[in-house]
Amino acid sequence: MSSRTDIEKFLDNMVDMIFNTKRTGREHGFRVCETDDSLRMSDICEGDKCSVALEKCPPRSTTFLDMHTHPPRQSITATLPSPSDTLNAIKGRIRFMCIGSPIDDGVLRCYEVDSDTEDARLFRKAMKDGKSSEAIKHLARVYLDESSMMKQVGLWEDLLLTKGGDDASE
Ligand SMILES: [Zn+2]
Repeated sequence: MSSRTDIEKFLDNMVDMIFNTKRTGREHGFRVCETDDSLRMSDICEGDKCSVALEKCPPRSTTFLDMHTHPPRQSITATLPSPSDTLNAIKGRIRFMCIGSPIDDGVLRCYEVDSDTEDARLFRKAMKDGKSSEAIKHLARVYLDESSMMKQVGLWEDLLLTKGGDDASE
């Protein structure tokens, strides 16, 4: 059973990864996989300046969270998921995506992904056809919500408490 403590552990790891990214200039990341009533965090992976490859969640589980960092870039979109992040999120039906960056003393943003919208479909198609400017138009609309991590922790806790509880032992 997952608890608020687990979720706070994810958050601690995210903050550590942002510091490590600042130090090394490399992306870091992990995933949280969801099975019937629990969330399990993968090992933390270290990538290079441009990407990090994360372990896939095992069969019969879903990807609850994909969290990774982006090293500082000359861009104000450092905490926006990239087109390839978004493609992975839609294909893998990832529920939440969080991007951390060491800019401005550390920023962390979490997004809820909606893989079932028309924008998600059009985004995938544009990416497949190599029409990147068309894809970017749909990218932002793939993310239902954007919020601070602490708000997200509250939301996750609500979801888990609804799912879990005393009768979750079967
Ligand atoms: Zn990314």
